[in-house]
Formats: sequence, structure tokens, C-alpha cells
Amino acid sequence: MFIETFFEKIKSALQTQACLLCEQKPGSASQFCGRCHEKLGIRPATPVIETPYCLGHAATTLNPMVKRLLYGHKFHNRKEHIGHLAGMLIQYWEALPPYYGFTSVHPENVLVMPIPPHEGNVSLIDQFASRFARHFGYDYRHDALAWMREVRPQHRIHDKQGRFSNIGQSLHLKSGIISGYERVIIVDDITTTGATLLEASRAFHNEVGNMSRQNDLSCLAVTKVPLGEQFRSGETEEEPDIRLKR
Ligand SMILES: [Zn+2]
Repeated sequence: MFIETFFEKIKSALQTQACLLCEQKPGSASQFCGRCHEKLGIRPATPVIETPYCLGHAATTLNPMVKRLLYGHKFHNRKEHIGHLAGMLIQYWEALPPYYGFTSVHPENVLVMPIPPHEGNVSLIDQFASRFARHFGYDYRHDALAWMREVRPQHRIHDKQGRFSNIGQSLHLKSGIISGYERVIIVDDITTTGATLLEASRAFHNEVGNMSRQNDLSCLAVTKVPLGEQFRSGETEEEPDIRLKR
């Protein structure tokens, strides 16, 4: 009994990496400790948007901590936040209940793809989406989705209808790319009205037809932002130290 406990202790000490934010032991989670999990506002693993054809998940709802990490990455090129953003997706996804079916699907049969960058831009989503995929052993294709036409950045459009018409019929899924996969996960940074998710699911259905079920396609965003609270680049001058005090 004592020996077993002893070895369990050694095992967990070796397995556990420090929390990505405060460097304390994260306990049973793999990325952040309980306190940082709370500070980041990582949501219980349930979809925020459900349509007959896909499930939309968000790892967090917007809060000051997540805002700083996303701003730092999006507007100030703070590379150290890539791990934090991937960490939020990973910690959320690890808690996904088995009835979503990902535990029964071999990781190689799951394909992860990012929402692509707009023309001339570097893909910021690619940087953390690829880490998320690697963590679970999922296949990853950065170029599976492409824009068919120019769209305005969604955060500059302030009404729901405008967002849907801006993005409708704009994404294209590479032909044949999802054949052989049982599940597809599309990764995005921010979800607000779900317009991008709906457009991605339209592109997905254009490719697979009406055979698919709700579980076949999931969208996973870092955060859900209420309409009207979207990012404005003017707000981003300040980038305080995100490290938490112990
Ligand atoms: Zn921590």
C-alpha cells in the first residue's frame, strides 16, 4: 500500500508540468492550476451554439484576463501567449464529456483546421490551433479552408445581420480533404454571433452533402464575446504583465 502510494506520487510528480501562467502544480488538469483556470474563466465543456449540423464550443467567455492574452497575441505579436491560448483550448477540450464521442474515435481520424487568415495576413489562429491538434494527436491541415472572396473583418461590423451577410458564401473547403476522417474541428479565436461557424458548416456540407450528423463538425473558439464588446484595436495599447501573483 505504502509502496503503491509512493510510486503514484513519483509518477504524478513526473507527469505534472507547471501551470502555464503561475508555474504552480496544475493538479489534475494539464495546462493551468485551479486558480488560473478560474481566473481565465474556462467554461464547463458544453456547446455555446448548436445547429442541426454542428456544435460550436468556446473555451471561455470574454473576461479581462483572456482579453489581455488575446490582445497581446493579436495586436502586439506576443509569441509567449500562443501557449496560453492553446492551453485554454486544451484544458476545455480535455473536460469534454464522452458522449460527444471524441474519446471513442481514434485521434488520427480527427482533423483540425483553422479559420484561414485574410489575404496578406499571417495566420495567428494557425499558431495555437496546431498546438491544440498536436496535444491530442489529431491530424492538422492549416490550408483546408480558404476564402473564396474578400470579407471585412467581422469585429468591425456591429450588427448581427451585417455579420451574416458579410461572411455568407465566403469559405471553401478543399475538395476531398476530409475523406476518411470521422470528426472535424474548426478552430477560431473569437465567436460572437456564430456567423463564421455557420459559414464553415455550409462549406463543410457543400463538400460532404447531407450525410453528416451534428457531431461530425465542431467549432472551437478561444472565447465567446457578446456582440457590442468586440475588439477595437484602439483599446490595445496597454499590455500589463499577465503573470498572476502567487
Ligand atoms: Zn496557475
